[in-house]
Amino acid sequence: MSHDKNLRDLLEDAARRGIDYREQSVSRAVAPTDAAIENVARFKEPLPEDGAADTDVLAQLDEVGTPAAVAMTGPRFFGFVIGGSLPVTLASNWLSSAWDQNDVMYEVTPATATLERVAMDWMIDLFGLPAETGAAFVTGATVANFSSLAAARNRVYADVGWNVEADGLIGAPPLAILVGEEVHPTVIKGIGLLGFGRDRVQRLPVDGQGCIDATQIPKITGPTIVCTQAGNLNTGGFDPVGDICDAVKPEGAWVHVDGAFGLWAAASPELAHLCNGFQAADSWATDAHKWLNVPYDCGIAFVRNAAALKSAMSITADYLITETENRNPSDYTPELSRRARGVDVWAALKSLGRSGLAEMLNRCCSNARRFADGLAKAGFGILNDVNLNQVLVSFGDDARTRRVIDAIQADGTCWCGVTVWQGRTAMRISVSNWSTTPADVDVSLEAIIRLAAETR
Ligand SMILES: *Cc1c(COP(=O)(O)O)cnc(C)c1O
Repeated sequence: MSHDKNLRDLLEDAARRGIDYREQSVSRAVAPTDAAIENVARFKEPLPEDGAADTDVLAQLDEVGTPAAVAMTGPRFFGFVIGGSLPVTLASNWLSSAWDQNDVMYEVTPATATLERVAMDWMIDLFGLPAETGAAFVTGATVANFSSLAAARNRVYADVGWNVEADGLIGAPPLAILVGEEVHPTVIKGIGLLGFGRDRVQRLPVDGQGCIDATQIPKITGPTIVCTQAGNLNTGGFDPVGDICDAVKPEGAWVHVDGAFGLWAAASPELAHLCNGFQAADSWATDAHKWLNVPYDCGIAFVRNAAALKSAMSITADYLITETENRNPSDYTPELSRRARGVDVWAALKSLGRSGLAEMLNRCCSNARRFADGLAKAGFGILNDVNLNQVLVSFGDDARTRRVIDAIQADGTCWCGVTVWQGRTAMRISVSNWSTTPADVDVSLEAIIRLAAETR
């Protein structure tokens, strides 16, 4: 139970503990020790009959939880495509958590609804998307893909005179869904959630970077959705979205782009060529919690036909105020009640500016190239074209690569994950944290090369 006189002490204690953690995560081993992981079992207890003091609750959280946290926010976590959180976004997140706004309707949350609107308009500008584009702030690219495809379902069926919102899919005309062979599994999950059937997709052949070959697109007949990708999770490769749009849009197909991290390339003049032609698509999903480096959770669905997104997502209820001239965030999202995600995106973009964002993106890519060059020079195989922030490394046969990755994770200097790329086991290095420096790359390279030499 909290008493007002204790509020300040408690929150300052939380801030102090959080700051300590962030400072340590720069230098500590990335992976927690086995002892710290075992200690997590201390959380497992029957629900206490009587409550504990707030200060004790926080102390236990810190003493048991903090040592077991993986230093994902630190500069040498290269697993998945995680990103960190820019200091200003952690701060904005703390402040907006204190506000605790339910970001549903402009009328009751004017500040956060406005910040979200501004953040959305800034991103539409940064990515060069059409001015009429609508957007939904959701948990991540998984739900952004799902939301985009719900809008696609709405419109491609409306085009053939079927009201899918009212009448559902039973008895609906058939629909074709085309995806690349290297589609992200969350797109397939979205397709399943929407009732299309995970196994009914047509998979298009891809090249050595996992990108769709635009010449292999079949003839489009009837309602069709084509799912493309900006930034393959392994190679960082980009589908030729412009060519795909040229091929399928005249036939009425909807083109979706899963750009969870790759769409950010459009915001850097040096990288924007990778996204040439992407603006012709109908919907784009991205994450802010990856390459923009805001705290979890934060993804965004952008839909050119904002009305299609809104008619798939809005609800009507007597107690809810319907939209006036101000945008109601919940008219565009699967959720009703939710946190004000746009605040952290606004804070990141306000603090970086256009040039600072481009510089952060370019820095990650040049650090990825530094990794690739160092590992190639040490004699290891780089399996992808390093055009973005992703590097795929092989240390020899699959079993050896696996052993080297295990040794790197246990060593703790840095953290890299395992993947299977077109049949080969590989280590995946993703440079997406704002704070990674060339010196971080160099100490990581030194550790990786040393551990690989020890692992025969
Ligand atoms: C990470 C990722 C996703 C899923 O995003 P979440 O934020 O984890 O929901 C989808 N597609 C691609 C290409 C990704 O990299």
